[in-house]
Amino acid sequence: MISMFAGRRLVIATKHKKEKVLAPVIEKSLGVRSFVDERLDTDSFGTFSGEIERTHDSLATARLKCLKAMELTNCDLAVASEGSFGTHPMIFFGCADEEILVFLDRKNNLEITVQKLSLETNLNGAEITTEKELFTFSKRAQFPSHALIIRRNSHDGKEVIKGITNYETLRASFCYFIKKYGSCYVETDMRAMHNPSRMKVIESAACKLVAKINTQCPKCHIPGFGITSAKKGLPCGNCGLKTKSILSHVYSCQKCFFKKEEFYPDDKKNEEPQFCDFCNP
Ligand SMILES: [Zn+2]
Ligand SMILES: [Zn+2]
Repeated sequence: MISMFAGRRLVIATKHKKEKVLAPVIEKSLGVRSFVDERLDTDSFGTFSGEIERTHDSLATARLKCLKAMELTNCDLAVASEGSFGTHPMIFFGCADEEILVFLDRKNNLEITVQKLSLETNLNGAEITTEKELFTFSKRAQFPSHALIIRRNSHDGKEVIKGITNYETLRASFCYFIKKYGSCYVETDMRAMHNPSRMKVIESAACKLVAKINTQCPKCHIPGFGITSAKKGLPCGNCGLKTKSILSHVYSCQKCFFKKEEFYPDDKKNEEPQFCDFCNP
């Protein structure tokens, strides 16, 4: 454990109960005393359901949440997370949940960030007109352990029923929209407290974060020594030419700029010819 953090107060910038998974991991690993402040409204930085558009990217948004929470609570240590959802950049089909965690220490002028990508997400949305479709959709969305949202259509922000967690409310909300408009748009509620799948990804991001915080720069011993870039070019096992696979990871220190390059991060010195552009064009 790094003594720089032990015994200090740390504010968790969330209003969606992320402290449930963040606090145990961070407190145990850093020895801090964490807390949340009910006054912090993280929705002002953007909502998944579209009422408030997010104006910054997820890293900048998480950083802003930290700063706002620090200011509100007069605390010099903060952590915040921000999620984004979409199609996976490497895998053609399927959705992914990307969680960014930012840890800010104003006393020591440190910012440590990690990113966690997971395919374990129920992200979905569909126009629905019958109760049978509603039932099929809700099953796929892992309802009722995972909450749902119903609205008039995918872009309507006026009439939105969020955080639906039981069949009674689901059916009543559905009937309301069907009577009024003939159809409705049902989607998964991605807010952390309503989405256990997402909570799990945030928890594993927290583990990644504390591992990074607890890794010190070999030269100046500042916490947060981690991977800052990856170099492609792992040679093909058949022809020896460079492939798009990772050859090495570069670690660098944000304070003294010491760099370390670690080759063959996946314990693989060659790539299979099937991933080679020359052998398998
Ligand atoms: Zn250093
Ligand atoms: Zn090859």
